[in-house]
Amino acid sequence: MKRVAILGSTGSIGTQTLDILRAHPDRFQVVGLAAAQNAERLHQQAQEFGVKNLALFHPETAHQHHLPGGVEGLTQIATLPEADIVVVSVAGVIGLVPTIEAIKAKKDIALASKEVLVAGGEVVMPLVQEHGVTMTPIDSEHSALFQCLLGTPKEHVQNLILTASGGPFRGKTRADLQDITVEQALNHPTWRMGGKITIDSATLMNKALEMIEARWLFDVPIERVEAVIHPQSIVHSFVRTRDGSVLGQLGWPNMKLPILYALSYPDRVPNDLPVWNPVDTPNLTFEPIDHETFPGLNLAREAMRHGGTMPCIFNAANEVAANAFLAGNCGFLAITEIVEHVMSLGRPTEVTLESLLAADAWARAEADARLTLL
Ligand code: MG
Repeated sequence: MKRVAILGSTGSIGTQTLDILRAHPDRFQVVGLAAAQNAERLHQQAQEFGVKNLALFHPETAHQHHLPGGVEGLTQIATLPEADIVVVSVAGVIGLVPTIEAIKAKKDIALASKEVLVAGGEVVMPLVQEHGVTMTPIDSEHSALFQCLLGTPKEHVQNLILTASGGPFRGKTRADLQDITVEQALNHPTWRMGGKITIDSATLMNKALEMIEARWLFDVPIERVEAVIHPQSIVHSFVRTRDGSVLGQLGWPNMKLPILYALSYPDRVPNDLPVWNPVDTPNLTFEPIDHETFPGLNLAREAMRHGGTMPCIFNAANEVAANAFLAGNCGFLAITEIVEHVMSLGRPTEVTLESLLAADAWARAEADARLTLL
């Protein structure tokens, strides 16, 4: 029996995680739940799963409900003595400190919040080693890479090749994207996800963040992490080994399988999820990425070339810009422009938790300042 705490239990990954846990009560027990601010849903979940340890990130809502709030509230749930594994599925970098504290408390981590590694991979991954915990990816591409890498010595790995659906604007030019509405950007062709990540998928910033996430999770230099457009989202990613073999992991675009695997690793659990067969999707296609229309991947490479706190700056600027677009405060093309602008002002420093939090706050303020000029 694994005892599970979930950060972000009312979000898209959180509710799908609870669906998995509900279906496998013989294997998993829920011991802690934290949500952003949906107190009603959190209490429903707590009642259903018999959970007493609760927190809400939003401080005022937490206060109203007499629950722990803020990052401290999330950290309390992440470090519960009774938890074996913590699902980190909050939107954005707010998962960083709770993840670090969970690792220090010797909890295994099932990571959905890629921003945690984009901003803090350089401090987080050594802690994973030091404390001997397991970090399993929930992100479908990284779950694929993780599985393809099982039994492959690191020196055999040549490239990690992330697949990208291309989002709703695949094949469009910059001119086509001038007047994109929020509604159009939220209309993802293959995946149903939360708002921020869906916007990241439309800008391809999601793939940019995933390149950095893969670099840290698998300790492969960013120069050897590639991406390719695969509109059907059936191949979840590839590994190319040094002899030229290419390994892939395939399945329906359904987050429940990567969630189940992240929780049950190293076991593989029989389940009722829809089974994919090759004849179900006989036409799998691949295309190169249009870097002119979608500059995010090159910005990610640049952020990693600078190193230090620059990937954290890159991530923070993108969080502000994506949320500003969602709120109707900037245009679609402005998202990557804001990120590029804030990076151009950034002076990366050596990575510590303190310097990351400072760089994150600085980049948010600069992105906000840029927004007021638009
Ligand atoms: Mg992904």
